[in-house]
Amino acid sequence: MDNFFSRDITLLAGLDKGQLLKDELGIHTYEDLLKHYPFRYEDRSTQSTIASLTPTPASVQLQGYIRKLQKLDKGKKRLVALFEDNTGQLNLIWFHSISWIMKKIKANVLYYVWGKPIFLPNGQKQIIHPEINSVIDKSYKTSNLLPLYHSTEKLKINQLGNKKIAFLQKKLLIQLNGVIEETLPGYLLTRYRLPSSVEAFIHIHFPTNQTLLKQAQRRLKFEELFFIQLKLLKVRQVRSEKEKGKIFNDLSLFNLFYHNHLPFSLTNGQKETIRAIYRDLSSGKQMNRLLQGDVGSGKTIVAFLAMLMAIGNGAQVAIMAPTEILAKQHFERFYLFSQQLNLHIALLTGSTKKKEREHILYRLKVGILHIIVGTHALLSDDVSFHELGFFVIDEQHRFGVAQRAGLLKKNQIYAPHILIMTATPIPRTLAMTFYGDLDLSTIYELPSGRQPVKTQHFYENFRLKVFQFIREQLLLGRQIYIVYPLIEASASLDYNNLMAGYESITRAFPDIPIGMIHGKMDSVAKDIEMKRFEKNETRILVTTTVIEVGVNIPNATVMVIESAERFGLSQLHQLRGRVGRGSEQSYCILMTDYRLNKTSKERIETMVKTSNGFEIAELDLKLRGPGDLMGLQQSGALNLKIADLSKDAAILEVARDVAKAIIEQDPDFQHPVNLPIYREYTRLLAVAGYWNKIG
Ligand code: ADP
Ligand code: MG
Repeated sequence: MDNFFSRDITLLAGLDKGQLLKDELGIHTYEDLLKHYPFRYEDRSTQSTIASLTPTPASVQLQGYIRKLQKLDKGKKRLVALFEDNTGQLNLIWFHSISWIMKKIKANVLYYVWGKPIFLPNGQKQIIHPEINSVIDKSYKTSNLLPLYHSTEKLKINQLGNKKIAFLQKKLLIQLNGVIEETLPGYLLTRYRLPSSVEAFIHIHFPTNQTLLKQAQRRLKFEELFFIQLKLLKVRQVRSEKEKGKIFNDLSLFNLFYHNHLPFSLTNGQKETIRAIYRDLSSGKQMNRLLQGDVGSGKTIVAFLAMLMAIGNGAQVAIMAPTEILAKQHFERFYLFSQQLNLHIALLTGSTKKKEREHILYRLKVGILHIIVGTHALLSDDVSFHELGFFVIDEQHRFGVAQRAGLLKKNQIYAPHILIMTATPIPRTLAMTFYGDLDLSTIYELPSGRQPVKTQHFYENFRLKVFQFIREQLLLGRQIYIVYPLIEASASLDYNNLMAGYESITRAFPDIPIGMIHGKMDSVAKDIEMKRFEKNETRILVTTTVIEVGVNIPNATVMVIESAERFGLSQLHQLRGRVGRGSEQSYCILMTDYRLNKTSKERIETMVKTSNGFEIAELDLKLRGPGDLMGLQQSGALNLKIADLSKDAAILEVARDVAKAIIEQDPDFQHPVNLPIYREYTRLLAVAGYWNKIG
């Protein structure tokens, strides 16, 4: 089967067409073609009559005879065929491939015609470039469900359109029987009522009815998700055997802080997470844990407490944030704590001055520094530690397995424990696929005393009322964020909008100190502005999405989002998370244009309706699709051929459970019944790049 699957596509399609398939669709092998699944099936089970046609944009199927064929040279060259069934007549028209069609079609032969009817003003009907098949042609009409394949313009011009691809699939399937081996053990096929691999391939391409199609889809989705899960769990298993985590079980520093300096009591979710982390850190295995918790759920303090466990056992710790603003903020918060505990801490970002940077790197290397806070600058090669024991990654859910692997190199003796934190709740299916090798902690509740943010949607005509409301809040002593979109494609336009907005706000609030932050400012300037707002020296902050993640200013109670229709759902949720961080009632105001398309409307309505990040994440997945949501289109983990993470959660859960059970009972797939798994798993390992992003 190895051989069969890896055969070069030119053996099947010929040199020229094979090359085209490679260039245009990335189909290099038999396997690639076989897994080039139809994206849709056209249901041709119903047949219309000419008289009953109505002006709808759908394609229809007719059955009848060609009565007359005429080549017209006047004006645009075309071929016109008069087509007739029991109820009437219409014209079929071709502008291309005229001589080929003329040779192919015969008068007074019964044909199926498939196409979109057009209604002319004079009442005549016609179909342009219909698909036409002889009724006695057995190769057509094997089924009423016709597969539709993605193709390209270039392929179509070169006679490699849908029909030809279907033809090649058929050719391939004929050779396949008896050659390809089953990839799932019989007991799984029986238990989950899955068709065999061969059956599934046949029915995914040429289903004879909906039931068989559904079964084939279920089987192939299961198989695809199952092997990914197997791989992820295997990564985890191998790692936990190989990476002997350093044991951090002296809790004295942790307890010192916990009992004397902790500024509040923890929520249950926070406590539970800390217990889970402690279990990991004292287990002797390397921790790889994902902590998800909605914005404001208090992940930072959890990270700090966990870091203390490592420091208290003689190791150094690092925390990496996605932006300088956020890194700075963590640094400042941790700096205060560090002073209470006599710990040494430093901040390292892209804008740290050379001299200071050298000083920091030196202190890090010799082990004077206990804590380093920073941005991606921390990953740079020349950042080395005396003994890095614990690494926290804040708000970077794109940080995949490969990048995490890079981190491990920062300690030559043992693999540092890793904690990834995200405030973008990840839908279960994505978490299982992208973070399937991690342990998961979730903080569901917010610290007590928080009131949910009130969210409202207004059109432009309400602006004066909004300004009035802002003024009232200012009188109460609160602070206000006003956020403008900034999207690369129209950056300069956005910049103008931001400036215009800033001016109109300064005019509306002449007596109020107003600050502004945007992407074009350098980080020192951003910092100064942020500081002023933090100290309540400015009362309104006009800004772009640079404040999207993490920023924490409890006195800010109003978040106005301009052109809210241009933001994604999780982004809106993140922005809203900047308010509602203190005990006062907070508000999120979504300003939009009058014209809203369907999905924008849905996003805005969702925001108004719910503040539950998990609910929002699930919806976002449905609206945007998984690739977009995680920024992961390129990722191998999501390069799925048939499964869809926004729809196939149920299948994924089963696949995950099955994979888990197998890894536990037969980790190397040595049991005879698992032979099919062993073969397929090793085959996939050898297929170049198949798993490179997740393994
Ligand atoms: P996020 O999970 O979004 O990163 P933060 O860690 O920034 O949230 O916490 C948000 C705010 O809540 C901070 O001001 C933090 O000090 C505060 N906080 C965290 N945990 C608690 C708690 N258990 N009780 C009260 N306030 C808390
Ligand atoms: Mg945070």
